[in-house]
Parts: sequence; structure tokens; C-alpha cells
Amino acid sequence: MKKHTGTDRSISAKWRPATRAVRAGTMRSEHGETSEALYLTSGYTYDDAQTVADRFAGEAVGMQYSRFQNPTVAMLEERIAMLEGAEACKAQASGMAAMTSALLCMLSSGDHVVAGRAAFGSCRWILNNVLNRFGITHTVVDGRDNAAWEAAVQPNTKVFFFETPANPTLDVVDLEFVCGLAKSKGITTIVDNAFATAALQRPLEFGADVVAYSATKLMDGQGRVLAGAICGSDEWINGTLSPFQRNTGPVLSPFNAWVVMKGLETLDLRAHKQSENALEVGKFVEGRVAKILHPGLPSFEQHNLAMSQMDACGPIFSFVVEGGRDKAFAVLDALELVDISNNIGDAKSLACHPASTTHNNMGPEGRAEMGVEEGMIRINVGLEDPLDVIEDLDQALTRAGL
Ligand SMILES: *Cc1c(COP(=O)(O)O)cnc(C)c1O
Repeated sequence: MKKHTGTDRSISAKWRPATRAVRAGTMRSEHGETSEALYLTSGYTYDDAQTVADRFAGEAVGMQYSRFQNPTVAMLEERIAMLEGAEACKAQASGMAAMTSALLCMLSSGDHVVAGRAAFGSCRWILNNVLNRFGITHTVVDGRDNAAWEAAVQPNTKVFFFETPANPTLDVVDLEFVCGLAKSKGITTIVDNAFATAALQRPLEFGADVVAYSATKLMDGQGRVLAGAICGSDEWINGTLSPFQRNTGPVLSPFNAWVVMKGLETLDLRAHKQSENALEVGKFVEGRVAKILHPGLPSFEQHNLAMSQMDACGPIFSFVVEGGRDKAFAVLDALELVDISNNIGDAKSLACHPASTTHNNMGPEGRAEMGVEEGMIRINVGLEDPLDVIEDLDQALTRAGL
């Protein structure tokens, strides 16, 4: 009997999400290896000249060059597509390569973008410093405000671009409303799903057109490689993104793809366990600081909306200590277990000061507009025993005089 194969959608589409995360996309070679093979090859060979001619003409499928396709990368792409519920996926060199490609592949001079105010610093930088130079304008809105999205639409608006929950204020965008609004106006929605991943939130189910990723974060989940991915319809991925990508080259290395694929095998477990831990740690922090932004806590303004779109709250939250940057630095410096690091999604608990790191490049006004306060600390809760993380935060806050 033929064994189930991860590339046959008539089979893999019936699998539940946790099964897809372990098996979707797997292509076994003639050796029947258990773990996916790592194809470290830039080129391919052909039995005859016509075979390669047919592939370049688009008349036959098969590998041509690893800037176009690679078997290891193709396995990862199929697995991420199956997790997101997307028709297709293209892996990218990093999360920022994904954001840049998703935007540049479809925007032209004269187009307009509406973007959520809370965003990864580099995402805003692209809008201000790259798209602007090519005559692509944008309006930034408070992503939490449905009316603001509606009011910002212009006749030339081509794209809605946002994260949810967003970095580092955890702003939640109402996916159903905003994606529905975009659809009714022929606007393409690009959602950065790095904070939740498909294990916790699938924006396509709410009507998003494109999901772009940093797979560096929770997908790898162990702080090893940079990677990105873009999911969407067959038509958009193969018709709009792929020609841009194969000619400009922001592709993922097979090695990094292989590492992320191994990460996906445990994504479901990690995402749920880290969410549980983050909730436990968040409940403690809530009792100790002036302000906490945590989608899993009932006190969070958008708690109900967040929980209606997400399966769990995710590993990341932010809190604000009184006393500004000095106090925030004092807390970070007093941590003994939790590392100071601007990465997120890792199995290790990490904390950082967004105003001086991830959001440093946007200046004080940009940060004020985004709600990034000087006393804000963002934490990624890992897979350690949450009681150890709580004890560490407790002693650090105490030593900082809080
Ligand atoms: C990290 C991150 C990015 C950028 O991803 P890289 O893999 O670091 O290039 C983009 N968006 C969000 C929300 C992120 O957290």
C-alpha cells in the first residue's frame, strides 16, 4: 500500500493542524529517510536539453536553480501553506525580506498603503524610507480603530498592512472587519502573523489575502536561524510574488529551511505551552506594575477580540514601569534568569526595552504615536518553569526599587 505523502493535498488537507505541522510537505527521496533531507545544492542536472528547456518554458515542473526552487525549501513552503490554510507559500530569507517582497511585488508609483500604527520598527522604516522614494504613499492608523481604517481609504489605496497582535503594544486588529472592508474595496490585506503564527491564529480564515512572516521567531522557536515566508492564493503567489522573487533573489537557504521545518514539528506544543506560561507570568506582573499590555488578561482592553481571533494568547507581552528608561534598564540589568534580548518566540525567556532597541530608529515622535513608552519592557516567555521566571522578575523589580 502506498504510504501517506505530505505533498498530496488530497491526503494532507484532511489532517488536523498538529499533524500538518509534523508531516505536511514531506517529500521522501528513494532512500526513504525518516527526517526530511537537506538538499544543499544551488543547481540541478538534466538528462537531456529538452527537459530543461521545457522547465524554463514553464511547460514542465521540476527544479531549475535554487533561487527558483529547492526541494528542502519546497517542503517547508508546503508545510507552512498547509498550516495557514493557504493555497501557496514562498519562503523568504528573513521576515523583513518577506515584508519587503510582499509590498514591492505588487505596489507601483502612485499607490497608497494604509498601515497599522503599531508595527515592527523595520516595517515602518520600509514605508517611510523605501516606498516613499518610489512615490508610494501611506497613511498610518490606530489599528484598533475600525473607523480609522475606513476613513483612511483613498481611491488609490492598494494595500492594508498590519500586524496583530502588534509589536510591542500588542494592539489587536479586528481581522474580520478590516479584511472585509478591504475586500469590499478591492484592497489587498497583508497581515504580519509573526507574534501568533498559524498555530494560534490564521488570518486567511478571517478574509486576509496575504500572510507574511518572520519564521525566525516562534516558527524556528529556538533562536537559530533567520527565515521568512509569504502565504496567499496560487494566483497571487505564482503570478505576482514569484516573478519578483526569482529575479530579485531574497530566497531562503536550504539549511535555514531545514532548521525551521524541524521547528514546525514542535510549533503546536511550544506555542500553546508558552502561551500558558505567559499567562501565568502575566498574572504575576499585573499585580506588580502600573500598566500591562497582555492579550490573555481580562484587564486588556481588547482581550475579548484577541481571544476571538486567537486560539491562545501567545508568548509575548509588554509592561510599563514607573520611572521611565532608567527604571526599565534597572529591571533588565537585575534579571538573572531571563536574558536581555530583542528576539522573540524563543524557548528561552527574553526581555527587552523596545524604545532603545526595536523601535529606536523611529525617533521619539514615532514612538509616541505608536504608544512605545520609555518605561516599557517587552517580554517573551519561554519554556522554563514559569515559577522560575516569576521569581526572577520579582527579584528584579524589587532590586530596581519597584
Ligand atoms: C521580527 C519581526 C519581523 C522581522 O523578521 P526578521 O526575521 O527579523 O527579518 C517582522 N515583523 C515582526 C512582527 C517581527 O516580530
